[in-house]
Amino acid sequence: MRVGGAAQWLLEPADPEQLREAIEAARAEGIEPRILGGGANLIIEDGVLPGVVITTDRMQRLFRPEPDRALGESMRMLEDPSPRHVAMAREEGLRFVAWSGISLPKLVRSAAKLGWSGLQGLAGVPGNVGGGVAMNAGGSWGDMWDVVERLLVIDENAQLVELTREQCQPGYRNARLGRKVVASALLRFELSDPRTVEEGVREYLQKKNAVQPVTLWSAGCVWKNPDKNLSGGRSAGQLVEQAGGKGRSVGGAIVSEKHGNFVVNTGTASAADVLRLIGETERLVADKTGIQLEREVKVWRSDLAGA
Ligand SMILES: Cc1cc2nc3c(=O)[nH]c(=O)nc-3n(C[C@H](O)[C@H](O)[C@H](O)COP(=O)(O)OP(=O)(O)OC[C@H]3O[C@@H](n4cnc5c(N)ncnc54)[C@H](O)[C@@H]3O)c2cc1C
Repeated sequence: MRVGGAAQWLLEPADPEQLREAIEAARAEGIEPRILGGGANLIIEDGVLPGVVITTDRMQRLFRPEPDRALGESMRMLEDPSPRHVAMAREEGLRFVAWSGISLPKLVRSAAKLGWSGLQGLAGVPGNVGGGVAMNAGGSWGDMWDVVERLLVIDENAQLVELTREQCQPGYRNARLGRKVVASALLRFELSDPRTVEEGVREYLQKKNAVQPVTLWSAGCVWKNPDKNLSGGRSAGQLVEQAGGKGRSVGGAIVSEKHGNFVVNTGTASAADVLRLIGETERLVADKTGIQLEREVKVWRSDLAGA
């Protein structure tokens, strides 16, 4: 969204163990750190954000686990086994270990190149693997968790622990991880053919570009789609449109004319503009339709730690 202020403390771990140490250090000071992925689903308030922000931006490893190594061990590996990686046939393994800082577009491209199917519908979704897993990013084609087999997380006690898929209860746009922080994910794909998967990626990108303002500054969809029984099958964007919300603005923030679920920064918006516009749009929709929209975007308020 490109609004908001500065972090009081910014920690930049480069691997899962450093991420664990950073979390432990913040908690030892009585601060619950906020975890920053690609920032593609975040609105950060103006001013100085007190406390600790940990960015996973330096944790950009993506590799194929070696077949003769335990998968859990592979997730903790610091060295990229590139020579073996290159030598492995594309039919082998069908898994990536993705550290939380790897960008979702890079992950989608890498899977497509190998002809691995499962995530092509994520084409055009910005952000990183950690945020994608935590938010259970997705769309009408499916969700990030369709390919998650196992996670390496830092738990409530600041320990690195593995979670199998069965130990998690991911829901719609929320993996329900609580205070757990994703360090690394083991992702499992289906074998397909590179041309088919790459065509799928292109197709999803075209569809997304046609209906969403993807080239403008936004935080993606602001609201979750409500229960279809409550909304008569209308999406959050349709509700905003029907309530007359499209095109409304506050300062430099505007509800996109292209898609009612996107608030766009036209270049001069402050976080205060964006948040006021979001609040006004929610009231408008509630007045006109009786439906209270629930936010998908995360808001980091400068008066609350660890929001
Ligand atoms: C143009 C545009 C299009 C979009 N399209 C879609 C779409 O089609 N579908 C969709 O689902 N989303 C979409 N989004 C939203 C966004 O891309 C996804 O939610 C993405 O998964 C956010 O990832 P991130 O790394 O940027 O997370 P951030 O925005 O950095 O963080 C989001 C939340 O995840 C938490 N988090 C981040 N990293 C971790 C971690 N390692 N462990 C635990 N928690 C963590 C943060 O603390 C925060 O609460 C779109 C956004 C934009 C701007």
